[in-house]
Amino acid sequence: TRPYLGNPKYTIEVLQKYGFVFQKRFGQNFLIDTHVLDRIIQASEITKDDFVLEIGPGIGTMTQYLADSAREVTAVEIDDALIPILKDTLKEWDNVNVIHGDILKTDIRKIADEKNQGRPIKVVANLPYYITTPIIMGLFESHVPVDSITVMVQKEVADRMQTGPGSKDYGALSLAVQYYAKPEIVANVPPNCFMPRPKVGSAVIRLTRHQNPPVTAKDEKLMFRIIRASFNQRRKTLANGLKNSQELNYTKEQVEAAITECGLPLNIRGEALTLEQFAKLSDIFFDMK
Ligand code: SAM
Repeated sequence: TRPYLGNPKYTIEVLQKYGFVFQKRFGQNFLIDTHVLDRIIQASEITKDDFVLEIGPGIGTMTQYLADSAREVTAVEIDDALIPILKDTLKEWDNVNVIHGDILKTDIRKIADEKNQGRPIKVVANLPYYITTPIIMGLFESHVPVDSITVMVQKEVADRMQTGPGSKDYGALSLAVQYYAKPEIVANVPPNCFMPRPKVGSAVIRLTRHQNPPVTAKDEKLMFRIIRASFNQRRKTLANGLKNSQELNYTKEQVEAAITECGLPLNIRGEALTLEQFAKLSDIFFDMK
């Protein structure tokens, strides 16, 4: 039988065999819990037709599970020391391809074109937490064809992605993620499921890409500038956030006119607005120019 690394005993054996030293700067916390691995695979709804991109395979623990479920897997790993280990731990699987590189500098579109004829791919990862947001936003904004992203992230970040107006966790990240996808937290994962144990709680979140965005703004970039400005100064009013933004240059009168035209009171806070309201507000500003 194949040496599945979900069993912590094998993980320890492999780490010792190679004298592997964990690199804090790469956000290395390896999964050592088979229930969590099963849950991730189940939530990602991978089939034998699917091409999967894994970000940061580590020693290949989840890669083995992904390779069992998918047609083909490409895994991108930055750490030199892990490349020979992956060669060893994945030798029994012939549908895995490891790329040695930085995911933020990888041409994912090219991978999707070559490996999946440009059809939507599935992304699955236990993400390095220090770059969660750039990875996810990069996937959405670069227009890589993506069907779903199922990822382990810091619990607090998962909450921010999933929540709506009125919650303390609601902000620019919630709106950006929800513009592109439907978020769904599928598991909460405690620190003892990893080696070494992270200081924070984790969660698995599935982001299912929208076929069409839930709102249409005349200028998508302007809408996101407005969203960022609105949350720049937490607990301040929307009007103040927009007036004091470095990214926008509207006068006090223009800001107040736009908020009023949107049917909102002048003392409203950014965290009270829905995505629809931000789209409407941004169209009002757009027409003002
Ligand atoms: N998937 C493995 C698991 O679940 O056991 C490891 C997950 S660990 C949280 C994150 C992995 O991402 C590490 O292997 C780390 O070296 C890798 N990594 C960190 N930064 C990266 C980057 N910029 N590009 C690609 N991989 C990266």
